[in-house]
Amino acid sequence: MTISRDAVLDWLKAFASTIHENSGYLTQLDSDIGDGDHGANMNRGMQAVLAVLPSVADKDIGSIFKTVGMKLVSTVGGASGPLYGTMFMQMGSAATGKMELTLDDWIAAMQAGYDGVVMRGKAQGGDKTMVDALEPALNMLKAKRDAGASIAEALDAAADATKQGMEATIPLVARKGRASYLGERSAGHQDPGATSSWYLMRTAAQTWKQAS
Ligand code: ADP
Ligand code: MG
Repeated sequence: MTISRDAVLDWLKAFASTIHENSGYLTQLDSDIGDGDHGANMNRGMQAVLAVLPSVADKDIGSIFKTVGMKLVSTVGGASGPLYGTMFMQMGSAATGKMELTLDDWIAAMQAGYDGVVMRGKAQGGDKTMVDALEPALNMLKAKRDAGASIAEALDAAADATKQGMEATIPLVARKGRASYLGERSAGHQDPGATSSWYLMRTAAQTWKQAS
């Protein structure tokens, strides 16, 4: 079983819808420990992505991801624009020429995207950022692959791991991004970027399981 290009496009649309529906919630989370714009930032970016998707829908998955990344960099702003933008651009490099993705291809893309986020933002696990959600997702995908799991099973487990990583940001004190300005007062709040990253992994699992 593989992830088709159409399934990739459907995932991006599902992520855009989920961001749109939860924009208020993401903004509320960001109001608690940041400047209250994460929902609006991500929604602006993903609406711009939706508008550009038809123009690249017949290209390879790498080109689609690169286009998404460039759109996010140019429209999202804030910390999350360059971070999500880099993630998709690096995923695009890893998926160059691919018309479908195996589980190994998806893991390679996620690894490249994750490495891009870390290189760009210099956050480590435990700093209360989107890295805390993406790291367990990637680790779980690898563990499931090594155990011989199906793509559907691996995606589901990765989405669950992302959720746990997101929830684990609540007690943390932020060490990167705007939330770090609050110091100890950032504890007790869920990180907005980790929350949007959970939507990313959850919509991947939901969309790609249906397609398989
Ligand atoms: P801004 O903080 O510029 O207003 P957003 O509100 O859109 O940008 O995004 C905030 C999110 O970005 C945080 O919740 C966090 O998950 C993520 N973030 C901020 N700085 C970093 C970093 N250095 N590394 C990884 N993620 C980061
Ligand atoms: Mg913000």
